[in-house]
Amino acid sequence: MAPLFRKSQYSTLNMTGRKPVFPGKLVTPAPGAEATDPLKRREIPEGLWEKCKQCSEMVFIKARQENNNVCPKCGYHYPMTAAKRIELLTDKDSFVEMDADLESVDTLKFEGVDSYVGKLAASKKKTGLKDAVVSGTATLDGKKYALGVMDFRFLGASMGAVVGEKITRLVEYAAKEKLPLVIVTASGGARMYEGMISLMQMAKTSGAVEKYQALGLPYIVVMTHPTTAGVTASFASLGDLIVAEPGALIGFAGPRVIKDTTQANLPEGFQTAEFLLKKGLIDRIIERKNLRAELSLLLDYFQNCAISK
Ligand SMILES: [Zn+2]
Repeated sequence: MAPLFRKSQYSTLNMTGRKPVFPGKLVTPAPGAEATDPLKRREIPEGLWEKCKQCSEMVFIKARQENNNVCPKCGYHYPMTAAKRIELLTDKDSFVEMDADLESVDTLKFEGVDSYVGKLAASKKKTGLKDAVVSGTATLDGKKYALGVMDFRFLGASMGAVVGEKITRLVEYAAKEKLPLVIVTASGGARMYEGMISLMQMAKTSGAVEKYQALGLPYIVVMTHPTTAGVTASFASLGDLIVAEPGALIGFAGPRVIKDTTQANLPEGFQTAEFLLKKGLIDRIIERKNLRAELSLLLDYFQNCAISK
């Protein structure tokens, strides 16, 4: 990385005397998506079944949800909320959230079809989250590690100042405490409501990751559907080990933009995890049902690998 971007510390917000914030355990999933009141559900029988997006079979929604949100018929991996993902990858009640109070600010006073303020309010209400990433520390089979999980429901898990700052603080905390680092990505890219501020998060998070990796500490990325644009182009592609869920869309720009720019015919399925595994960007594809056990194994492999200086 160019010396221009090298800094002793990359987190920028409220730096004076700051210590990592641990306000408490992660709250239960917000009302919505996967946490539907069973009594309410009974009153709406038409909501019991749905047509699978991939195989078009009628699937009992509860069966899909109990199967880690994977279609029991064809194995299609539906998106997961951050809370459910954390539940999947950590020991019970071990997750301690960091920086839970950081909230985005509408610096540009962005107005469009809807204002940024309006979009933020709607996403907060829908997800119960304050922004698109949840970060903290946890154990998995007793092994402590730092974990960041993006939640696509919150403005397409786009990266603005808060997402960038929370990722950066997590990386810097993991470096300080010599913890393995795992980030589960899902993102539509940079949060354009924040203009240049969103774009600089790419350099900021990448800079922090470089410093973390210089200590010889392991950084594992779990790419989920979809991981695109500015997140792919920064911390998501910098893992020492990059794994992905089956069928995940992974890319930078959309196919039409690439085709128009390069004037080339694009190979079939070139933005899928499977294609990128063949090309070497992805190291391994792991089905969700095996993710917990395999992550635990990876944390075993990487234990005590910090370089002592
Ligand atoms: Zn299906």
